[in-house]
Amino acid sequence: MSSYDELLKKAFDPEAFRREGHRVVDILADFLAKSAPETRERVLAFEDPDAMAASWAGRFGSGPSAAFSDLLPEILARSNDLLHPRFIGHQCTTALPLAALGGFAGQFLNNGSAIYEMGPVNVAMERQLVRWMTGLAGWGPAADGVFTSGGSIGNLTALLAARQAMAERNVWTAGVAAEPNLAVLVSEQCHYSVKRAAAVIGLGEDAAVPVPVDERFHMRSDGLEAAFAGAVRAGLRPIALVANACSTATGSYDDLEAAAAFAAARGLWLHVDGAHGAAALLSPKYRSLLRGLDRADSVIWDAHKNMLMPALITAVLFREGGHSYEAFSQKASYLFEKEAREEWYNFAHRTMECTKTMMGMRLFVSLAAYGTDFFAGYVTAVYDLAREFAGLLRASGDFETAVEPESNIVCFRHLKRGETDLDALQRRLRRRLLEKGNFYVVQAVLRGRTWLRCTLINPRTTIADLAALLGEIRKIASE
Ligand SMILES: *Cc1c(COP(=O)(O)O)cnc(C)c1O
Repeated sequence: MSSYDELLKKAFDPEAFRREGHRVVDILADFLAKSAPETRERVLAFEDPDAMAASWAGRFGSGPSAAFSDLLPEILARSNDLLHPRFIGHQCTTALPLAALGGFAGQFLNNGSAIYEMGPVNVAMERQLVRWMTGLAGWGPAADGVFTSGGSIGNLTALLAARQAMAERNVWTAGVAAEPNLAVLVSEQCHYSVKRAAAVIGLGEDAAVPVPVDERFHMRSDGLEAAFAGAVRAGLRPIALVANACSTATGSYDDLEAAAAFAAARGLWLHVDGAHGAAALLSPKYRSLLRGLDRADSVIWDAHKNMLMPALITAVLFREGGHSYEAFSQKASYLFEKEAREEWYNFAHRTMECTKTMMGMRLFVSLAAYGTDFFAGYVTAVYDLAREFAGLLRASGDFETAVEPESNIVCFRHLKRGETDLDALQRRLRRRLLEKGNFYVVQAVLRGRTWLRCTLINPRTTIADLAALLGEIRKIASE
């Protein structure tokens, strides 16, 4: 037998797979067991990118080099530990271990899900998830949507649909030159992917007209008319308004009722960027933050942020489901719509992707295993924790918050006595935290000032961890 034949046999040998699989799961379970401050101090081991890359050079070749289970301990040791309660930086969540298993099984099956035939079970599960999520948004049976790979593509998809619905000509076929003056009004605090989407769809980034925000970083309702009028004076035709629920930097929820009223008065499409914050719909305590969403035209919702899912899984939802078919409409929408509507199960009509992972399956099996109340409890708990942390910061006397948190994002800074350059201090503190590696926080610049920023997205983070963070910061500041 040639070595190819031998390896092929080994690669698909059920017993070899079982053995390696058990080894891998055991290693991961041990890692999970140690993801706590008592058993592992470091949450990340920052390494120089060039040195990191060099250390992985030459480690595979024409024949087998290492078993996965032999490489895995090193991979874990040198990766970021998002399972650790002191990893509280970006909006990437701790993956629910069961959802990771769902991802594993999905990749094992590798049912592409571009069209029904390619992934029937996943397609059906995603249908049910979309129904459930549009119901939470307060929309009726006409609502529809799809899952796509991340909020950035989600915003792009929604804006494509908005353009196709609102433009007077068929820009999809005729090109942007057919209607060159289209614009969108966006919060000054919008995620960069919204402006990027405006550029990608050919409006140009300048056609993303900023609406100013108030002192708490909400889009100013009284600034909408001026932004609209300014755009019109500049020869633009605004077709959509993009509101945040919530914003990335500070987690501020725009007033969706005011946005919806303005959009209705001016004939604009209302898109809500709920990548981070739409999951608050799950929480009876916090769902009122999204009041007014029922009147929006579209919303995106990242389950890989506040729903504990491994990346990526984003829902792009439309109140009038027919619009879901317009984003990538290749024909006049009214013709395509009917045809496509009868083919809800062929998602490739409606997403950027052709082949997709079985992303919905991970969420579906997690909801089945733990129930929706578990996820509601999760959102409530992490939003509560942010408020508790803000209280701790306020009471400290030597820290301040940028704004009272509305979600689970908290921006704060250390006010070291006698320090003249507080911005430089926060940067220095963060750099030292990165080097020490026992907490992970990020930074944000708001109105020219530097803040430490954390996202309390890990359900195992406690107020004691956050108190320990403040202690660590004080210690570093005094060094
Ligand atoms: C994270 C985020 C995005 C981008 O989502 P990805 O899934 O990272 O592509 C878009 N908008 C907001 C408000 C976000 O917080």
